[in-house]
Amino acid sequence: MATYRDLLAQVKAEIDEIDAAGARELLDSGDAPLFIDVREEDEWNEGQIPGAVHIPRGFLESRVEASAPDRAQQIVVYCAGGSRSAFAAKSLGDLGYENVVSLSGGYTDWKRNGFPTQLPTTLDPEKRSRYSRHLLIPEVGVEGQLKLLESRVLLIGAGGLGSPASLYLAAAGVGRLGIVDDDRVDASNLQRQIAHSTERLGEWKADSAKRTLEALNPDVEVVTYKERITSENVDRILADGWDVILDGADNFPTRYLINDASVFHDIPVVHGSIYRFEGQVTVFKPHEGPCYRCLFPQPPPPELAPSCAEGGVLGVLPGIIGSLQANETLKLALGIGNPLIGRLLLFDALTATFDEVALRRDPNCPVCGDSPTITEYIDYVEFCAGPAHA
Ligand SMILES: [Zn+2]
Repeated sequence: MATYRDLLAQVKAEIDEIDAAGARELLDSGDAPLFIDVREEDEWNEGQIPGAVHIPRGFLESRVEASAPDRAQQIVVYCAGGSRSAFAAKSLGDLGYENVVSLSGGYTDWKRNGFPTQLPTTLDPEKRSRYSRHLLIPEVGVEGQLKLLESRVLLIGAGGLGSPASLYLAAAGVGRLGIVDDDRVDASNLQRQIAHSTERLGEWKADSAKRTLEALNPDVEVVTYKERITSENVDRILADGWDVILDGADNFPTRYLINDASVFHDIPVVHGSIYRFEGQVTVFKPHEGPCYRCLFPQPPPPELAPSCAEGGVLGVLPGIIGSLQANETLKLALGIGNPLIGRLLLFDALTATFDEVALRRDPNCPVCGDSPTITEYIDYVEFCAGPAHA
């Protein structure tokens, strides 16, 4: 029966190895290969080769495709001393990877040579516990959770859509949430706006939401803007640096303003709207898909615009649509999945059915088209007597 030494020697004869100096040259080259670190979590946490991805040996076969979809790409696999990575290189070869080398001497030799290393930003034990259900998903993991904690999402409105969306984003650990809302909590809001409560009647919605969200998750910083977003303040608010805008406003002037600002600032908008039993969600990502004006170049004349005062809505509907908006926002922040760019998702609460409509970018769009004619903000007249309550 073969001993471990025999087996290792046999595997090493079947794979290609590279020494630390050779690997360093590859790392510094313009076209650096993918470095895969197959050590255990505690070893990884003590330092790693810059840019490496971490796939512990036990998960290599099941997870490698997510990091290395192209089997022809050059891969350097390493462990502490070069033995585990030799077996890993053999496995990758068996999986069809054509260009794999194992770092002989491993991370230990790399470090001994004084080559660059980096320490991972890690999660402290409290965060590991709080986000454990994210850490268990390979597509999120520690790396994804760190991304979320560094993400910044601006919510337009702390009403029906903004309430559930902000609660889920805060719970997920999105590090910075901005809330733009110039309204106060009213009794008629509480049928659906779950970030608020009876004891908060009369408070600013932005302040009420901030209390709710910070109580839910102290990792989240909530920035409030107790103002209505207008052409005057939109650039100032966006200058605070946001990765995604979650639009929960339900009036045309704001919708057009947010759209134009998102194109000018190149920030994706996760758009949601609701009416009675029907809701819709889509993602407007500037220049990758259509914007709102690609679909509706100009707002309807006031006499044709739906009256906001009559806009009844089933209490749970904003919970469903706002949660879908949170889902799209998390995907954008994590860079995973297939966002609703160029796709309008329609939900009918009465039949409990979803439909999807393809949306196309208009090359003649006045704001995101090839020769834009709208290059400054436009304040449209108000369509409703009072503010709309989504
Ligand atoms: Zn457009």
